[in-house]
Amino acid sequence: MPSEFDVVVIGAGTGGYVAAIRASQLGLKVAVVEKQKALGGTCLIWGCIPTKALLEHAHALKVVQNVKEWGVTIGEGAVGIDMGQVQARKDKVVSGLTKGIEFLFKKNKIEWIKGTATITGRGRIDVVDGEKQSLSATKEIVIATGSTPRSVPGVEIDRKRIITSDEAIGLREVPKSMVILGSGAVGVEFASIFRRFGSQVTILELLPRIVPGEDEAISAELEKSFKKQGITIHTGTKVTRAVAAADHVEIEAQLPDGTTTKLSADYLLVATGRGPVTTGLGAEGLGLSMDRGYISVDHLFRTGVPGFSAVGDVVSLGAGKVHPQLAHVSSAEGIVAAERIAGRATQPINYDHVPACTYCDPEIGSVGWTEREAQERGYDVRVGTFPFFVLGRAKMAGEGEGFVKIVADKKYDEVLGVHMIGPRATELVAEATLALRLECTVEELIRTIHAHPTFSEAVGEAAHAVHGAAIHM
Ligand SMILES: Cc1cc2nc3c(=O)[nH]c(=O)nc-3n(C[C@H](O)[C@H](O)[C@H](O)COP(=O)(O)OP(=O)(O)OC[C@H]3O[C@@H](n4cnc5c(N)ncnc54)[C@H](O)[C@@H]3O)c2cc1C
Repeated sequence: MPSEFDVVVIGAGTGGYVAAIRASQLGLKVAVVEKQKALGGTCLIWGCIPTKALLEHAHALKVVQNVKEWGVTIGEGAVGIDMGQVQARKDKVVSGLTKGIEFLFKKNKIEWIKGTATITGRGRIDVVDGEKQSLSATKEIVIATGSTPRSVPGVEIDRKRIITSDEAIGLREVPKSMVILGSGAVGVEFASIFRRFGSQVTILELLPRIVPGEDEAISAELEKSFKKQGITIHTGTKVTRAVAAADHVEIEAQLPDGTTTKLSADYLLVATGRGPVTTGLGAEGLGLSMDRGYISVDHLFRTGVPGFSAVGDVVSLGAGKVHPQLAHVSSAEGIVAAERIAGRATQPINYDHVPACTYCDPEIGSVGWTEREAQERGYDVRVGTFPFFVLGRAKMAGEGEGFVKIVADKKYDEVLGVHMIGPRATELVAEATLALRLECTVEELIRTIHAHPTFSEAVGEAAHAVHGAAIHM
């Protein structure tokens, strides 16, 4: 007899585990099948958490490297980084959080079924972990199997010298040199980590600018800062070949002028995006509609086949629509799916209002349309920009790089996008996200009192700047 549940979720990443908790809160009997030895998926085990933990180490090193300015005395000798301790602390942070999910499962009476799930029919799943176990889901199966790193033609990942973020988070040495292929969030975060630790870092990006999804002004500011930090950047550059040797990698790339350049590095980190995980799941025979390997879903995460939902990195919102592969997006989708399955009123997600945070140094926080995107949509756009260096708080912290840029509609004064690079940008973006959600005008941001002295004053001042009247500039 199969074990019976209302809902079975496949995958305990931020999409799956949040869907499970919400479904359980709404009175459903829920099981989650997860093949890893810990709960939390990519975000907790290989993604958001370990990378941000490493970035905190990089930040600590930066502070210590500048002790003289702070008047702190730490004795003679060179400042260095102990990768053993870095890894130990990072692993402790990760395991504390994955165990926290186990606690939440117990609290919400969610059963964790350990093993690999294969769907065998409507409401039916087999789980293999040594022995086979059968489950039935009387209401819904939620597919939340996530994503995995992918490469580009000519570059075969060997996980030793040609590595992905999965291996980069576990490096126990500081490489002398690292070439990073791709300058999206993952690429530039590792560039910040390893440059601060002491590696020679080179970024190769196919598109004309780094962090190509961001507002052009943000890309330019990050490139300026990275170059100042000693990071080499080649944009418009296509990697055509990479060959791994025992202790290094040889890389060939085509530069924008058509010439070929050769590079050699201890590691090549491939950060060119992630593809969906559906192999072995048995999804093919169900008649699910697929888009480039992703599972197509509607605005309430229904797959089109009754009894099957999908959320998170594994889904497509339809051909030509961008689906952000972000932890908070997958969780928001898990909540909507669970509420719909439980028969509760829910709200579709507005993907134009999803905040995106990149924790490189300086960090980036953005939400809404870039200046160019707003123009392309036909808005008469006006923008206001305010630099951090003017703020008292930024001067005290010695963190004056970057700015806040607000993109607004001239006719109705509505805030259309907020893009920031600089200190605490990944925190400050929360205010901007709320402003977009509530369809705020620039005037309302101006009238919102920002405490002094804070970094958030840059948001208020950027709003004043949209109206041509920044107070402190
Ligand atoms: C280096 C890196 C840094 C990142 N940083 C951030 C960040 O700072 N902020 C942010 O928002 N996002 C970040 N992300 C993205 C974020 O991690 C993902 O968007 C998020 O984890 C997606 O969640 P998910 O639940 O869809 O899938 P996943 O987290 O990938 O979870 C899927 C789970 O399903 C399990 N699974 C798959 N198939 C089966 C099967 N057949 N049976 C049983 N179990 C199965 C897998 O083992 C996995 O645990 C980062 C990603 C990376 C790689």
